[in-house]
Amino acid sequence: MQEVSNKPFSYESFPTCGTVAYFSMEIAINPGMPTYSGGLGVLAGDTLRSAADLGVPLVAFTLVHRKGYFQQHLNAVGEQSEDTQPWNPSDFCTEEAARVTVGIEDRVVTVRAWRYDLEGRCGHIVPIYLLDTDLDENSGWDRGLTDHLYGGDTNYRLQQEIVLGMGGARMASALGLHVNVYHMNEGHAALLTQALLESELGGGPLEGFTEVDVEQVRRKCVFTTHTPVPAGHDRFSTEQTIRILGSARTARLEKLGCFQDGLLNMTLLALRFSRYANGVAMQHGKVSREMFPQYQVDSITNGVHAPTWIAEPVRQMLDDHIPAWRRDNLYLRNAIELPEKDVLYAHARAKEALLTEVASRTGLVLNPRVLTLGFARRAATYKRANLLFLDPDRLLKIAEQAGGLQIIYAGKAHPQDVPGKALIRSVIETASKLSSDMLRVVYLENYAWDLGAQLTAGVDVWINTPRRPYEASGTSGMKAALNGIPSLSILDGWWIEGCIEGVTGWAIEDGESDAEEAGSLYHKLESAVVPLYLEAPEKWARLMRTTLAFNGSYFNTNRMVKQYTRNAYYPVKLVERTPVEEAAFAGDPFEA
Ligand SMILES: *Cc1c(COP(=O)(O)O)cnc(C)c1O
Repeated sequence: MQEVSNKPFSYESFPTCGTVAYFSMEIAINPGMPTYSGGLGVLAGDTLRSAADLGVPLVAFTLVHRKGYFQQHLNAVGEQSEDTQPWNPSDFCTEEAARVTVGIEDRVVTVRAWRYDLEGRCGHIVPIYLLDTDLDENSGWDRGLTDHLYGGDTNYRLQQEIVLGMGGARMASALGLHVNVYHMNEGHAALLTQALLESELGGGPLEGFTEVDVEQVRRKCVFTTHTPVPAGHDRFSTEQTIRILGSARTARLEKLGCFQDGLLNMTLLALRFSRYANGVAMQHGKVSREMFPQYQVDSITNGVHAPTWIAEPVRQMLDDHIPAWRRDNLYLRNAIELPEKDVLYAHARAKEALLTEVASRTGLVLNPRVLTLGFARRAATYKRANLLFLDPDRLLKIAEQAGGLQIIYAGKAHPQDVPGKALIRSVIETASKLSSDMLRVVYLENYAWDLGAQLTAGVDVWINTPRRPYEASGTSGMKAALNGIPSLSILDGWWIEGCIEGVTGWAIEDGESDAEEAGSLYHKLESAVVPLYLEAPEKWARLMRTTLAFNGSYFNTNRMVKQYTRNAYYPVKLVERTPVEEAAFAGDPFEA
């Protein structure tokens, strides 16, 4: 057979100039592995899934979290109790032979790594190394350091951060990886900079560093911050830092300007050692620049991994009409031309699957024709899960206007978050008081990946009511958008960018109080959402189409990872390259 002259040229992988090492305290790797708690871990997992799809050379480090986050149980009155989620790393991962050590208090702790190979759609592999201290050579306490995600007190947390940051950086080296970019996903991993600095010093005295040594580390590090409020940043007391990290390192960190108000601030540490830093939405970048005016902070808006979060019936529809969406999510823009009846059919099937799940979990049979709202996320008080219930009479009237209303809730409160737990109780209490033939409210237990996927694909409208400016980005509304589901949300985080009124959903107007914002929420339901839902299915289908076209094509990690790759990891002019690397870049599709 004759060679075709325009045979497609394929790059084996991204130009070979080393690898990115991505560090995150939590990563949602696989639905069967309880190694994440919420948004941060899901974002990390989606980032790695897209990096694998795109063939970006990247490896990741996290902790193994042998006891998981926690399994949530809710009793009849909404009191939460928790169970551990033990899992067996050898069921999913391969043990690496390499061992490294870290110093914690006055002990030497040995660390090993389990490798999970995450495979992209074309076979490219992103290895994830899960660090583990459960080894015979460690003491009982140290063996448990990698057990609980966000468990224990700040002493436990700082010790975990040593394992993640310093252990991870040393493990990368022990594994023989040629890392040229270290990406700290949130400040939890900031201590990796200290392992790199100490490696620069070549075993010399810890205090004997110069600005040149710092610069050597900075050239390799990038940092993503995720918290828009000062209290959200990881901080440790001087006493803790001296006791756990040692006095020489503490003195160095003080000299480097990483203490604020007498506390070691992990965000400041990460910023001090990064050549590039970003917030996770346009607004969040701005807020972060105001919080840390001495640093440049860019914005790369979050996304979600489209194939993970699009429900099967919607995937089938997209495969039929826009098959290129799997290769490049930008093609989802063409969803604008999907046939209305196909959109309605795909959504009806996703809704049916969700209602079947609700019935099997709770025995409650919901009506597939009735307008159904979804609200699911961590039960942190700033997310205001009970804003919808602020005026129960008005909510009941809306339910009557709509010919029925169904609201599905889910979310865990951190075991130590007493107000968060009270919030769940109050939602469940109000729900049982208000529930009638017209208004059905259900709170589902144990919000996790699988339930999240069903909820964000199966409801009709996604509700988000954070108190501004606490939501750095938020991602569950993006999952909904990829299924064509509009949001009704507070203008904070990603929604400032994603909201086109009446086209991708609706904005809850900013108010001076909870009551004012609840008023706007009710008003939008009464004047926009319910009338459109009742008017004609084709009109609703058109809203779903524009939601998918405008927001599905943008708020995905396929776009986001390309931005990280080109704006953060390998910016075109910033990287100083050896001639060999220069030659490798000559074939770079982005550089033409
Ligand atoms: C997507 C997701 C989150 C994050 O939701 P936000 O809207 O960003 O708060 C949390 N938990 C689970 C299980 C998720 O799937």
